[in-house]
Amino acid sequence: LPRQPAASPLVALDIGGTLIKLVYTASCEGGGAGAELRFAKFERRRLQECFDFIRAKGLLGCNGTRSGKENVPLKATGGGAYKFSDDFREKLGVCLDKLDEMDSVVSGANFLLQNIPGAAFTHMNGQRNPVDVSPNNLFPYLLVNIGSGVSILKVTGNRKFERVTGTHIGGGTMFGLAKLLTGCKSYDEFLQLSQKGDNFVLDLIVKDICGELVCQKQGLSTSTLASSFGKVITSKKRLTDYKPEDLASTLLSAFTYNIAQIAFLVASLLGLRRVFFGGSYIRGHKSTMENISFAIDFWSQSQMQAVFLRHEGYLGALGALMSYGD
Ligand code: ADP
Repeated sequence: LPRQPAASPLVALDIGGTLIKLVYTASCEGGGAGAELRFAKFERRRLQECFDFIRAKGLLGCNGTRSGKENVPLKATGGGAYKFSDDFREKLGVCLDKLDEMDSVVSGANFLLQNIPGAAFTHMNGQRNPVDVSPNNLFPYLLVNIGSGVSILKVTGNRKFERVTGTHIGGGTMFGLAKLLTGCKSYDEFLQLSQKGDNFVLDLIVKDICGELVCQKQGLSTSTLASSFGKVITSKKRLTDYKPEDLASTLLSAFTYNIAQIAFLVASLLGLRRVFFGGSYIRGHKSTMENISFAIDFWSQSQMQAVFLRHEGYLGALGALMSYGD
């Protein structure tokens, strides 16, 4: 962590399209020399909750300073750092030091990968395994950050990266549709629903098109997805006839497989074998990680590996925090 005077917390924010992510330091319990990282998130539409949290935790007034008398600028990234700059000044009396979003996401990922043992892991066939990333085998890698939209970056070193591409069909799209179709109120509720649902109620699979016999003869996998939501077209059911659980499960698999396939295609074009996934979309959710891993393994014929990160939603905020050391 960047050097800091004792008892002086560092605070950094990432204000995205959907969520505000906050990372701050606290002295280790038991009074050790190091500092502990703490994480908090708020919906962007509830900015006031974020202000209240910052005040209640006493995170202002001594941010990086010894005297505790004057407010030094707070490091912030994400588009909202620009949009809400005035609110921070007026309501909290603090100035935001705005940092490039992609720079911060890459710094955050590199920090986790280079400093936190066990930060990277695979999640396949029900098994979570740590990935050993030593500095000499880390670069280059593909970073797929799944937030409201998706950013795809080629990372070749510390602070060395290129934003290769992205897609606007990301977590915001999925959760937006989920709210409309399932009536869920929160992302966690949506994920829980999806766990209980069956996507084959709505998805068209190869077997539905060819029949089981033909599939067997031609050696096709019967359960391969042919068209997400494709069964709806030939059904007389209306939206209310479908269970929210099944709708949620279909949405999650459709978006997750699609994003993973784009990630595979970009990694292939760039000749990269290791793909790290970040962003709050993943939310440590097992079947999301399983589906991403399955898709990367399937499309790459086991030549590529999907790797996940602890604190995956906080890459930008972590990177912003690291910039106090610059
Ligand atoms: P951004 O920086 O664009 O806000 P994030 O990396 O924070 O992006 O990811 C936002 C996405 O993560 C949402 O679109 C949604 O798919 C998912 N998500 C995870 N947790 C939540 C939550 N508590 N509220 C809303 N969306 C969430």
